[in-house]
Amino acid sequence: MRASKLFVQTLREFPNDAEAMSHKLLVRAGYIKKLTNGVYTYMPLMQRVLTKVSNIVRQEMNRAGAQELLMPFVQPAELWQKSGRWQVYGKELMRMKDRHDNEMCLAPTHEEVITSVVDGVFTSYKQLPVNLYHIQLKFRDEIRPRFGLLRGREFIMKDAYSFHTSQESLNAEYDNMATAYTRIFQRCGLETRMVQSDSGAIGGSVSHEFMVLTDTAVGEDDVFYCEKCGYSANSNHAVSKLIDEITDGGFEKLETIDTPNVRTIEELSKFFNINQNCILKSVLYVASFADDAKGQKVPDMPVLVMIRGDKEVEETKLMNAVGALEIRTATDDEVVQYLNSERGFISFKGIAGKKVQVLFDNSACGMKNFVIGANEPHKHIVGFNFSDITENDVKDGVKFYDISLVKPGETCTECGGALKVTRGIEVGNIFQLGTKYSKPMNAVYTDENGKTHPYIMGCYGIGVTRTAAAAIERYHDDFGIIWPLEIAPYHAVVVPVNTNDEAQLKLAEEIYQKLLNAGVEVVLDDRADRAGVKFKDADLIGYPFRITVGKSISEGLVEFKQRKSADILKLTPDEAVKAVADAVLALKEK
Ligand code: ATP
Ligand code: MG
Repeated sequence: MRASKLFVQTLREFPNDAEAMSHKLLVRAGYIKKLTNGVYTYMPLMQRVLTKVSNIVRQEMNRAGAQELLMPFVQPAELWQKSGRWQVYGKELMRMKDRHDNEMCLAPTHEEVITSVVDGVFTSYKQLPVNLYHIQLKFRDEIRPRFGLLRGREFIMKDAYSFHTSQESLNAEYDNMATAYTRIFQRCGLETRMVQSDSGAIGGSVSHEFMVLTDTAVGEDDVFYCEKCGYSANSNHAVSKLIDEITDGGFEKLETIDTPNVRTIEELSKFFNINQNCILKSVLYVASFADDAKGQKVPDMPVLVMIRGDKEVEETKLMNAVGALEIRTATDDEVVQYLNSERGFISFKGIAGKKVQVLFDNSACGMKNFVIGANEPHKHIVGFNFSDITENDVKDGVKFYDISLVKPGETCTECGGALKVTRGIEVGNIFQLGTKYSKPMNAVYTDENGKTHPYIMGCYGIGVTRTAAAAIERYHDDFGIIWPLEIAPYHAVVVPVNTNDEAQLKLAEEIYQKLLNAGVEVVLDDRADRAGVKFKDADLIGYPFRITVGKSISEGLVEFKQRKSADILKLTPDEAVKAVADAVLALKEK
């Protein structure tokens, strides 16, 4: 490819609507062009990157025994009603009607379709297991599509679905996919960590995410891990050993104390001169739910979370605990409405008659003689113990849940080590679905005795567009992108410094042809621009190798530079060609 013909426009400035480095760089280097919020055109350079990622995914999925098909992007509501997800998927599901008034949606994922595809085709136990995948557009009407390709509304995903007759068979395929995923990301030049995770809208019981760990990431996930035993989990799933932690406020008797305007945990801790972990914090949430089976609206419910003062609520865990579709913290008015009290002083005291669900976090379990709100303005109770809770407070007894966020330094439940935290970008996710879809959709196979059973399923996703963006988050510098060779749009660029110099142009052309003949994907920067402009573009776009043809041709030498290193080597043209060709060849042998 000649740069003069390459359909790309690099920009001098970063776009002002981008926060994530990958987003800024992709726009500035001309890889993507925004059509509307969260929807991008993948320009030729980007398309080359995505093709490479997709091809690696395809090769490794095929190697693992999966088969590729392609399922539709537009889907009928009927299927989603059958699985029960039409009601529960929420606003990310883009719904619409066709000209005949049929309800339809844009595919955010394909569990329903694949289940209907397999059902009636592979009906016998003898045909199973089978694993089918596709690489397809998805649409999720994300609330904040602000990170470019990391969180688009329209994006490309590889998703695979496996069908089994036993849990053992599913387990084996789950492991097989975990191995394939590790290979895929390695081949994309990315190191990933497999972490335990919440199953979210997809459902099922066991799931793991593949995370690209990066400190600079705008990655929205925190990963907790233990260096001692290798435990790793997304913060929405991570647990620490809290149950046996005892904290004692040291108050000698139970009494109600005036605490004028002392509302926050910090203020209370100062006021009483006690640690924050001796205060039982009350946080009021409002949970909303999916419509019921008859399509009737389910009213919102106030949920009061009781959690140790030094801990925070993990909202995904809370949503799972109450079965909510969405939750949010209550407004000041709602605090008055639901608890007849005032923010800063609330608790479960005397609320048994009200329709408020009370949940205690595990962190509260070991608390003694602690402080709680009196649920009356400007008053707190000190020296409180769980035995002081009466039927007027909590109707159905105290129930403990895991609904708090782990904090770095807390104890690993597996081995007693100290948990650490790092930022991560989820690039892949594998799930054991079990019969979550096959049962409601009545998708069955026949066993050796002629009896029917719902398929046992697994599903496995990789964000193709997100993987490319994650690579940029991981590998860039002040000058631009530093693509891993494996997924770079082109392997190399050849830059003649002075295009008015016939000898330089001629040699650059020769090197270009030799590289092409060696199977290298290369750009010849034949533009009449100044060398500085070309170097800047080369760094911004992120070609892994640059061969510069300048004045040193008088000594029979060219400059050879790798994007990831500052070193510039002087080599003969043939040596430079060989260095690039060898690196590309090594890639093919991977
Ligand atoms: P997230 O938690 O980041 O919203 P998810 O867990 O809902 O993602 P999955 O349903 O597990 O996503 O989808 C499989 C993969 O698809 C993810 O691991 C991710 O790589 C990719 N993906 C999901 N949502 C998006 C998006 N909005 N933009 C780009 N890629 C996405
Ligand atoms: Mg996921």
